Amino acid sequence: MQPSGSASQHLSAMLENTDRFLTTVEIETSRGILMGEDSRKTMDSAQSLAEFDRVDFVSLTDNPGGNPHIRPEVLGQELLSRGREVMINLSCKDYNRNSVESRLWALDSQGFSNVLALSGDYPVGGFEGQAQPVFDIDSVGLIEMMAQMNEGLRNKTLGSSSSGHRLEETNFFTGCVVSPFKKLEGELMTQYFKLALKVRTGAKFAVTQIGYDSRKASEIHNYVESNGINVPMIGSVFILTAPAGRFFNRWGVPGVCVSDNLRDIANRHAKSKDRGRLFFSELAAKQIAILKGIGYRGVYISGRPALDRVQQIMELVDSYSKDDWREFAKEIIFSQPGEFYYYEADENPGLSSNTINKDYISSRSKYARAKSRIGVPAQYRIGKFVHDRIFSEGSSGFKLGRVVYKQIEKNKMLSDLAHLAEQVSKVPMYNCRDCGDCSLPDIAYLCPESQCVKNQRNGPCGGTKAGQCEILDKECIWIRAYDRMKPYGDEVRMLQGPVIFKDGALQNTSAWGNTFLGRDHHAKKSDAVDEL
Ligand code: SF4
Repeated sequence: MQPSGSASQHLSAMLENTDRFLTTVEIETSRGILMGEDSRKTMDSAQSLAEFDRVDFVSLTDNPGGNPHIRPEVLGQELLSRGREVMINLSCKDYNRNSVESRLWALDSQGFSNVLALSGDYPVGGFEGQAQPVFDIDSVGLIEMMAQMNEGLRNKTLGSSSSGHRLEETNFFTGCVVSPFKKLEGELMTQYFKLALKVRTGAKFAVTQIGYDSRKASEIHNYVESNGINVPMIGSVFILTAPAGRFFNRWGVPGVCVSDNLRDIANRHAKSKDRGRLFFSELAAKQIAILKGIGYRGVYISGRPALDRVQQIMELVDSYSKDDWREFAKEIIFSQPGEFYYYEADENPGLSSNTINKDYISSRSKYARAKSRIGVPAQYRIGKFVHDRIFSEGSSGFKLGRVVYKQIEKNKMLSDLAHLAEQVSKVPMYNCRDCGDCSLPDIAYLCPESQCVKNQRNGPCGGTKAGQCEILDKECIWIRAYDRMKPYGDEVRMLQGPVIFKDGALQNTSAWGNTFLGRDHHAKKSDAVDEL
């Protein structure tokens, strides 16, 4: 296949105006200046791939694996100037919301419109020690920011009552990521809920996390179609190697799982003459054929592929017959032991049916929910009881609380005493960090400040390993929240509200006062509901 050398179509036009199966290749950025040896090699590889007529666009990573690298837009500029379609990965781990916004202005000004919104991997290294992660906003907050910038942000001046003029509209075409290859019910369902939230917020396409389970790839496609999520899906295919298989098997990359079985197969093939190169190319080609067969809109190829490798894989894909993918799906089912599926298996092994998992349906019956309430911690029951009667807007307790706090705040000593009383109850119960913009009711009375290293307030990140946090040695708070809420039927309301942004101005102020007097995100939530 020869390079076409012609300018490409915009990604939005390719996705929205054609039904072509698209191919993107991920280019991992490198450390060092643009003219340095590593960056030049990366640039040469990116250019050759971008010129290949089977590659519709290239995607450039942002400090991958939590390591500092040159910014993707520095590498992307040259590709853009040659008329190539580029997608910039933008992650929230290293920037606060102001620097994210400033970077977005720069990206739009430079002509980059395709942005893949990520929360990002927890930093693992840095200059003279590990970097302090930021996570001021998350991937959902980033999608919301781009959606508002596309509408024209208001240029408000701090302290001024003027609503400000509207800034020029940006032109972002925003993508998001979803991780369907999850073991536990709560882990998977919260990923599905979060995908729906991302799409409601403004994501125009979704890329799946790396995985080797055709049934899950098929399931999420069915889920999106059956639940009105209505977003083009692009499936990830990582070109495996034996060392990568072993690394993923040890959960070396957050959220990416290679089963023991697949690791052993990879190790076996690595002993062949070509060190498994053909086998791994075939594995990738078969996955692409499966994605095409299921109805995905494209593939996102990663694993640092060179042009000749991508060419080899594409030739293999072209050599398959129309229905071969169904046979391939039977081969590529490397799930985790006891993995939860939302849908029953299809009669074609390796694919998903549209029938909802029968055990899951029974677990949602009135009887099953009531029975499982026994295991719900008192912290949730008490929190819910108090919240519904006092902190829920419209309750009689809320009206009283508002009157009381209006009076309390007139007197500094009373205010300080009330704040102290709040902390005396919330620190031992919730390990409260006094952020002043409380998300306890959003996450089943689990504090994101003290119990989530990424302070995720709009659903779980994709990094969990069989339910465990990617960093801390404990279960992810979002999975715990799901398990607490389900016995009460409350899980159906998870992630249904507007995007949550923590307001840093409220740090070390009374969260109760802020809720009663409408200063925190709960008030913004009620405003949004009122506007509906
Ligand atoms: S006020 Fe903030 S720090 Fe305290 S429990 Fe609520 S979310 Fe956590």
